[in-house]
Amino acid sequence: MSKQTEYSLFQDVCGFVDDAARHMNLNPGLIEQIKQCNSIYKFNFPLRNDDGTYETLTGYRVQHSHHKLPVKGGIRYSQHVNEDEVKGLAALMTYKCALVNVPFGGAKGGVRINPLEYNATQLEKITRRYTSELIKKKFIGPAIDVPAPDYGTSSREMAWIVDTYEAFNPELINAKGCVTGKPLSQHGIDGRTEATGQGVYFGIREAVNVEEDMKAIGLTPGMKDKTIIIQGLGNVGYYSAKYIRESGAKIIAVAEWNGGIYDPTGIDIEALKSYQLKNKGFKGYPKGEFIKNSVDLLTYECDILVPAALENQITIENAAKIKAKIIGEAANGPVTQEAEKILLEKNILVIPDMYLNAGGVTVSYFEWLKNLSRVSFGKLEKRYDMEKYRNLLGTIENATGEMFTDQEKDGLIKGASERDLVLSGLEETMVEAYHAMNSTRKTKNIQSLRTAAFILAIERIAISYTDLGIFP
Ligand code: GLU
Repeated sequence: MSKQTEYSLFQDVCGFVDDAARHMNLNPGLIEQIKQCNSIYKFNFPLRNDDGTYETLTGYRVQHSHHKLPVKGGIRYSQHVNEDEVKGLAALMTYKCALVNVPFGGAKGGVRINPLEYNATQLEKITRRYTSELIKKKFIGPAIDVPAPDYGTSSREMAWIVDTYEAFNPELINAKGCVTGKPLSQHGIDGRTEATGQGVYFGIREAVNVEEDMKAIGLTPGMKDKTIIIQGLGNVGYYSAKYIRESGAKIIAVAEWNGGIYDPTGIDIEALKSYQLKNKGFKGYPKGEFIKNSVDLLTYECDILVPAALENQITIENAAKIKAKIIGEAANGPVTQEAEKILLEKNILVIPDMYLNAGGVTVSYFEWLKNLSRVSFGKLEKRYDMEKYRNLLGTIENATGEMFTDQEKDGLIKGASERDLVLSGLEETMVEAYHAMNSTRKTKNIQSLRTAAFILAIERIAISYTDLGIFP
């Protein structure tokens, strides 16, 4: 086994493209055009603190592919942010959007800070200054480039971004569509917060429902009683765990950067999450065993391992020790290209990131459409005087003698809420994309779902670039 070479997320993603390209018949120049990042913006900016001290921070926004506009992708706040990481994440956004047929190019941004070391006032200053730097260079706008939350950011930062953008663009009627993942009060969409985790669940459910694929890896079909290990209990990890658990599977371990919990009898995710919020970690949690070196948990016996934290977690160093039958990549880039080869040799089914965590950007697309059209989706229960409608139905019953069932009454009163529409759109997207990916894998007779996913995505991007032509 060769020693791990210096890690580059962007090189790994390019390597996955090369693997897929070997099964395709495309002009090598076109493949090269697809692989490279179109624009890379790196900037330094100062932050002044109340005590008069100030520091210089580094921000990035990378637009990987302009084959479709706007480009789309989250903003990450982490001390590990660097140019290579942002390039790799931007590239993954391109392939992710193409795979689930969301009409955006890929982008990503980041600020190199540990957000836990800054208070809300400082984070607001950083976010607003970061946004103004993007505005100056035209790296943000509803038709140009639309950020969203990622590791270390949430709807709070998105609200600051839209407010800053609107301050500089008061005449733009569609300004709200400059960023997604906003709070509901700021024209966000119901269901976006949970969307990535919800999509992770739908994706894993589709995979384990394919009987012949489960037989091939030695599992029975269905979610019930499957044992699950999750890495990361942030937004993506928490909602993935919640929906997976609700489907009848058992979460037996959760690994966080500052320690994990192992409990083969099953973990109550809600209780663990609220303990974590209060105690800043799992240490002292009354049930299960506290595991200090939490990366060890990735190699424990389980049916499905769900890395939902950061890239570069399953590497050439630990891949051979993985005992899970399925790896569901909820994070971006958790398995390196070298590690995946080892996992495939061990007959492990890897459900790739560009598919499995695409629920976030899928619902971001719905939010963006809602912002552009300036209408609300569905019938929001809140908008109606429910009692009035119940009375009205009662009057109809009395007058006609026709009785409505409770279900009919609910349907007549509520209609489909925005949340129902978002959820059904998300489910359909995840179901369709899984089977497209899996059938490409089978017809091309390849083992890796990731290679199949890249083939589908690259085919679509290639058509788009070819139809666009080259300027001038
Ligand atoms: N940051 C998320 C991702 O990596 C969401 C991106 C978006 O909604 O634009 O897919």
